[in-house]
Amino acid sequence: MINVHSIETFWTQDGPWIRLVVFLQGCMFRCKYCHNPDTIALENGAAMKWWEDDILTRLHSEETYFWENWWVTFSWWEPLYQAPWLLPIVKKIKEAGFHVCIDTNWFVQSEEAREILKLADLILPDIKHIDAEKCKELVWVSNENTLKTLDYLDEIKKPYWLRQVIVPWYTDDEDDIRKLWEYIKTRTSMERLELLPYHNMWVSKWEKLKWDYPLKGVPAATKDDLNRVKAILDEYSDKVFLR
Ligand code: SF4
Repeated sequence: MINVHSIETFWTQDGPWIRLVVFLQGCMFRCKYCHNPDTIALENGAAMKWWEDDILTRLHSEETYFWENWWVTFSWWEPLYQAPWLLPIVKKIKEAGFHVCIDTNWFVQSEEAREILKLADLILPDIKHIDAEKCKELVWVSNENTLKTLDYLDEIKKPYWLRQVIVPWYTDDEDDIRKLWEYIKTRTSMERLELLPYHNMWVSKWEKLKWDYPLKGVPAATKDDLNRVKAILDEYSDKVFLR
């Protein structure tokens, strides 16, 4: 059984084509820009408890828009936090023929988490910061496990779309961006790198939880901010996209 925060249908953001996305509760990060602070706790009092068959029933009820291809993403965060319970679900829905994406912050290193990454069709890993110390400052944990998971994905030849949130003053420094590319140019299974803009429109969610928002005063990333970072990365690769 897994703790589900919510479900979205007709979703086009997390993975290819139109997807059904299952957003899970629980995250071990504390990103200063967290856009869904209400999903951080594994149990927030409102989580739905779903078993394998609940997910399958829901997926089958959406068959009309899957056409011949069936797509599902497990997202927010962190799906692998519930890996022991998510694994049998992923096994079952893979057997039923669905294309499965895992949208992950990569932290969990358990056997079950690795098994899920092996079974899924596409992984959407988020790299918070290429610099270990700056990563820790921004999201509370170092990027050590993230980089270990990248090694694992290359080792098992699992395709992935890497994503980085562009936060003005935090993740858009030119030297860091070049350092990021120095690192990922050696990766063999990365199909694309997506740059996502930092937004500050979810401050109200923090206020609702009575939490202080740590990035007060940091402006939202503009199209120009993203294009500047993309222009640096474009010097190296044609696999960089804005989202
Ligand atoms: S990984 Fe996602 S859910 Fe977790 S703290 Fe960061 S932004 Fe929030």
